[in-house]
Amino acid sequence: MSQDCIFCKIIAGQIPSAKIYDRGGVYAFLDIAPVNKGHALVVSKAHHATLFDLPDDLGRELLGALKTVGRAVMSATGASGLNVGMNNFESAGQLVHHAHFHLIPRHEGDGLRLWTQHAYESVEEMQKLAQAVRSAIG
Ligand code: AMP
Ligand code: ZN
Repeated sequence: MSQDCIFCKIIAGQIPSAKIYDRGGVYAFLDIAPVNKGHALVVSKAHHATLFDLPDDLGRELLGALKTVGRAVMSATGASGLNVGMNNFESAGQLVHHAHFHLIPRHEGDGLRLWTQHAYESVEEMQKLAQAVRSAIG
């Protein structure tokens, strides 16, 4: 547990939460400021700051929980769709530095736009960037 972490305090029961899932190494609760009602946060109970800090062997359990909680959120809210999102680092909007997945129930015509998209200047620019990413992967 990280002493200054609000999600660690929620998991430890020191701060109240609208808990919806508590199994194994995973905990989930409703976001206090939902994008749509039923917006949930799925977290590992152990404190890890970002996606890149999560141990690979926790991935299977987290994916299972995302599917279980995601289905339940859709069912309970009558949603026809679900966005799964994760902010990593402050420039991406991460406010709480305990890795968490957002599950956002979606309804036909709810008008939510998650992000705007842009064009590359050219196919060459796009291919050059793809090459740079492949090189970074190694
Ligand atoms: P992020 O910007 O990805 O770090 O998201 C942090 C999320 O945590 C935001 O959507 C907040 O609304 C949510 N949040 C912060 N404090 C609480 C809390 N005490 N209970 C439930 N959700 C919270
Ligand atoms: Zn934490």
